[in-house]
Amino acid sequence: MEKCAFCDINKFRKRIIYENEIFYSIFDVHPVSPGHALVIPKRHVVSLLDLNETEWSFLQTTIRETIRVIEKTNFEDLYKTMKQKKVTSKSLWFCDKMLKHSGLHKKPDAYNIGNNDGEAAGRTVNHLHIQIIPRHKGDVEDPIGGIRHIIPGMGNYKN
Ligand SMILES: [Zn+2]
Repeated sequence: MEKCAFCDINKFRKRIIYENEIFYSIFDVHPVSPGHALVIPKRHVVSLLDLNETEWSFLQTTIRETIRVIEKTNFEDLYKTMKQKKVTSKSLWFCDKMLKHSGLHKKPDAYNIGNNDGEAAGRTVNHLHIQIIPRHKGDVEDPIGGIRHIIPGMGNYKN
């Protein structure tokens, strides 16, 4: 079995914000918005398509419960604490960005929920991790198209 960062759940034990028998969730240490979280299967699974039926059924609850935690979290405390821990060399920069974010003290208005399913899709860690990215009204100039913007210039099909 391939060994990888997300297989070593003990390394993340103190950072787990939600857990059941199949999945665990943590806050991303390189967040793109306040509350950005990852949902990770405990079993080493590479693709979403490798999940079995039981794992798929747990995924619904896991996403919902992770969002409940996000909506109860004080992001200022979260990123001040994360900053002190210096999880990675780049996490400081991301934490500073979050501490200045207009959504720091607000409940998210919406979410982008997604997965880079394969290296060509932008994946860097080959263990499934579903990204839950909170969004706020006005956080980008024109959000129309959302995740369609992964291909530059192809996001907005309305204007
Ligand atoms: Zn793994």
